[in-house]
Amino acid sequence: TVTIDKIAAGEVIERPASVVKELAENAIDAGATAIVVEIQDGGISLIRIADNGCGIAREEVPNAFLRHSTSKIRSVEDLVHIGSLGFRGEALSSIAAVSQVELITKTGEQTFGTRYRIDGGRKVDIEDTGARDGTTFLIRQLFYNVPARRKFLKTPMTEASHVGDLMTRLALSHPEISFQFINNGQSKLHTSGNGSLKDVIYHVYGREIASNLLRSEFSSQGIRITGFLGKPLISRGNRNFENYFINGRYVKNQIVSKAIEDAYKDFSMQHKYPFVVLHMEIDGEGVDVNVHPAKMEIRFHNQQEVYNRVYEAVNKGLHAEEL
Ligand code: ADP
Ligand code: MG
Repeated sequence: TVTIDKIAAGEVIERPASVVKELAENAIDAGATAIVVEIQDGGISLIRIADNGCGIAREEVPNAFLRHSTSKIRSVEDLVHIGSLGFRGEALSSIAAVSQVELITKTGEQTFGTRYRIDGGRKVDIEDTGARDGTTFLIRQLFYNVPARRKFLKTPMTEASHVGDLMTRLALSHPEISFQFINNGQSKLHTSGNGSLKDVIYHVYGREIASNLLRSEFSSQGIRITGFLGKPLISRGNRNFENYFINGRYVKNQIVSKAIEDAYKDFSMQHKYPFVVLHMEIDGEGVDVNVHPAKMEIRFHNQQEVYNRVYEAVNKGLHAEEL
């Protein structure tokens, strides 16, 4: 029911950035190679997200907004991985419960697209429309029917910066997808999608950082780490430049941060916080990502093991420079 969806929305949807995160992950799952996100007033009055993915067949459109409806679990094998993939089929129902949604979508097989509107979880109308292949969501007036939540939103500027940070992370985690972010009509980020992580880093952080990188390639005992380490020339004032993705998910974790910082410190005494962009693949049994799929927390079954491997990877990467 709408009430339960509204409660569920409290779990998943905290602010405009959480809406963008869920919809962008859906676009990625749909095989999109280009994703455009546009917001007005920090995303509070409008979020528009357009992808060129597989689209949703007309007969599936209303179902997609039902709680626990997901097209992504097909086998027992998938069920085993359900946590790590974050497939839980409640993003659309949650978003629709607390906003006014307009969806335009078309699959490759269909001649016409579908336009669907749903307000506060209640269907308004569904009709044919001309559309390109792919999916566009318009989310208007977030939390218009949950004043208590709306009150907790920060200023449009702050909400926009949360969306901007998210877009940066999405671009860094998927160099093979072109991401564009437009805030109040101004383009803030536009990556090429050519697959080069270094190009994304250049685009986001500029020449200075991009031309002082060491490549990191490491694989041992169920952990694979690839990406870039900032040369230990410049120490940063905080952890904001430590970007790491574990099994595709952007996370913050004490153990991982500590391992990275310790490796830098041992390499160069005064070094505090480095710049890194690392992708880590850890075998399913090594991580417990069920902590909260919408948040950035991650738990490890064997913390010491993870610490050692990450330390080793960064240490090796830093010393490789001298070869
Ligand atoms: P989940 O992603 O966990 O399956 P969601 O509520 O996020 O649940 O989405 C429900 C369903 O709607 C998805 O399983 C998918 O079939 C469909 N869907 C949502 N967004 C898109 C999109 N951008 N492109 C294609 N299909 C989509
Ligand atoms: Mg989803």
